[in-house]
Amino acid sequence: MTELRPGGASSVGMRLRRRVAVCSAVLAASGCVGWDSSVEDDLLVFRTSTSVGPARKFVAAVPVEDGDTQLSLTALVGDEAGYAARIRNPQREIVYEASDWWTADRNKTNGGFNADVITIAWPIDAFDAPLTPGTWTVETRFSAARAPLDVTVAVKRDSDLTSGVLHADIVWAGGLQDDADLASGVSRALEIWRDDVYGPIGITVDAVERTWDGPAALASPGFGDADAYLDAVGDKALRSVSVILVSDVSDGANVFGVSGGIPGPLPGTDRSAVLVSVGDVAGRDGVFTDEEARLLSETIAHEVGHYLGLFHPMELPIGGGQAIATWDALDDTVACARLTACNDALGDNLMYPTPICASATGLSCSAFVRQRTVSPDQQGVVHRAVLVR
Ligand SMILES: [Zn+2]
Repeated sequence: MTELRPGGASSVGMRLRRRVAVCSAVLAASGCVGWDSSVEDDLLVFRTSTSVGPARKFVAAVPVEDGDTQLSLTALVGDEAGYAARIRNPQREIVYEASDWWTADRNKTNGGFNADVITIAWPIDAFDAPLTPGTWTVETRFSAARAPLDVTVAVKRDSDLTSGVLHADIVWAGGLQDDADLASGVSRALEIWRDDVYGPIGITVDAVERTWDGPAALASPGFGDADAYLDAVGDKALRSVSVILVSDVSDGANVFGVSGGIPGPLPGTDRSAVLVSVGDVAGRDGVFTDEEARLLSETIAHEVGHYLGLFHPMELPIGGGQAIATWDALDDTVACARLTACNDALGDNLMYPTPICASATGLSCSAFVRQRTVSPDQQGVVHRAVLVR
C-alpha cells in the first residue's frame, strides 16, 4: 500500500517544491529544458515536451528521495523510434544497460528495445539496485535527431511491497455490454480476478466499468487503430490500467488478450491498454460457461500482469518443438529446458504463455489447467510497479 504522507497536503507541497528546485538545478546543469512538476495520484510527476538532442539522445534527470521505491519513464517520439539505453544511480554507476539484454536468453523489460512509445521502470524486481537518494538519470536514444519528444516521469514511494491497490478502467467497446451473456461472463470474470487471483497476492483490484462507442474489433495496441486507442484511453489516469473488451483482436486469430507493453505506459498513448477478446474466450456460442469465465479472469489477470512488468516464465519455442531458449529474469520461476517439463513445472503459473487443456470433449477443451500461481519474485515485480499504489 502506498504510504500516507505524514502531515497531509502541505507536506506534499513542500516536498514537491523542494524537488522542483533540485530538478531545475540538475536540469539546468545538464542543459535540458524545463519540466512541469505535479503531484498526481500520490505520485511525483515530471513532464516535458521537447525534442531529441543533436546526438540522437535525451537524458532525464530524476530527483529521488529517501523512501522512493520506483521511477517510471514514458517517452513518445511520434513517427520515430527509440529505447531506454541506460540508467545510472546518483554515483553515476550504470545499473541498467539495454545492450546487455539484446542477445540475452532472459527477458527483463521491453523498455530497452526500439519502439515509438518507450516505457521503462526502475527497479523492476528484487534483484535490481534499489532507488537511493540523489539524482538518477535515464538515457534514451533515438533513430532521429531533433524529433519532437514528450516525456513523462513518475516516482512512487511505497512502504509496503506486499499489499497495494490497482485501479482498473474496464472499457466495453462497440456496444458489447448490451449482450447479456457477455456481460454476465465479464462480471463473473472480474470477480474471480479480484477475489481469487490478485486478492491472494495482496493486490486489491478496484475496477470501474464504462462504455466506449469505438469499434468492437481492434488491432493489438501499437499495431494499428492508433486514433481509436487515443479516443478510448488518451486521457486515462496515470495510475490506472485500461482494459478494453472487444469481440475480436483483428490482427491475430484466436488471440485472447494483448498488453500494450511490458511494462505498459502510464500516460494515455496508442499503447496504453490491455486488449481482451471476450468474443474469442466465449467461443463460438458467445455464452460463457463457468470454465470460460474462469479462463477470461485468468486472461485479464495475465495481460495486466504484463502491463505491470511480468514476462512469461519462458517463451514457447519459435517454430514449435520442445527446446526452450528464453526465460524471464527471475530466480524462482524454473528455467525449464523442454516444453513438457515447463508444462509440469509452470503450467499453473499466471504468466504461462498459453492455456493448457486439462480435459477435452472431442476437439474442444472442456476444462483448462487453473493458472493463478504468482511466485514470490513475480509478486515482487507487481508490487514495485508504479501503477500499484
Ligand atoms: Zn502473455
